[in-house]
Amino acid sequence: MLEGKVALVTGASRGIGRAVALKLAEHGAKVGINYFSNDESAEEVKKEIENLGGDALLLRADVSNYKEVEEMINLVTEKYGGLNILVNNAGIVKDNLLLRMKPEDWGRVLEVNLTGVYNCTKAALKPLLKSEYSAIVNITSIIGQVGNVGQCNYAASKAGVIGFTKSIARELAARNIRVNAVAPGYIETDMTSALPEKFKDQFKEQIPLKRFGTPEEVAEVVLFLSSPQASYITGQIINVDGGLVML
Ligand code: NAP
Repeated sequence: MLEGKVALVTGASRGIGRAVALKLAEHGAKVGINYFSNDESAEEVKKEIENLGGDALLLRADVSNYKEVEEMINLVTEKYGGLNILVNNAGIVKDNLLLRMKPEDWGRVLEVNLTGVYNCTKAALKPLLKSEYSAIVNITSIIGQVGNVGQCNYAASKAGVIGFTKSIARELAARNIRVNAVAPGYIETDMTSALPEKFKDQFKEQIPLKRFGTPEEVAEVVLFLSSPQASYITGQIINVDGGLVML
């Protein structure tokens, strides 16, 4: 499906990003594994890809730092001779009620989750424009669609990713670069593991499919949107949420 293609996945050391990196590699892509601080986990993902017979490159960079992002894009394009697929997945939470939310927790979430998407997309644009086949997939969240108590910073960042996705999809359509987003619901990763069991059970009751999703279930949709199979799809937000949000 993706033989000969080069992909960069941000936040690929754990969770959804890890599953996406493995999935794209399994389908033939060479994969740049971006991460922030977790060297060991990132190294494991690289090894897993190599065990599948694939090719991967570790790229430590803070997506909120444009200079680091530029260096990362240079490294991956130099190593593999170009770039075809960008998956903007890196994201963080710093939850609190607005009354208690510190300016730095508002700022950091916006910097990583939204400015990070701008930084990586902007820096990747030249190599993507040069490639014959290019696609961008951003990871947003259902929280960006419906909001959540204690997550105004996260919701604003993810709503921003939706607006960014639709705008850039319009800008880049003439250059045949497709830009889509995936909006996961509750997925079993480190990000949700800290939720008390009582809350998890309450959330599950509200989900029509009555369970949390897996990173692999999100990765399947990212694979599809990244692939030529999705050649007539751009500017779309695809929910992977067990039916929790039906727009
Ligand atoms: P996770 O398990 O917490 O993993 C986060 C990943 O992002 C890690 O690889 C981390 O790297 C990386 N990262 C964090 N800050 C970074 C930075 N400044 N620069 C580069 N990389 C950075 O998260 P997840 O649950 O897989 O979530 C992945 C994406 O899906 C996020 O955008 C999240 O908002 C979104 N999402 C998740 C859920 C869910 O239920 N889990 C639902 C909706 C949307 P290190 O390992 O080095 O720290």
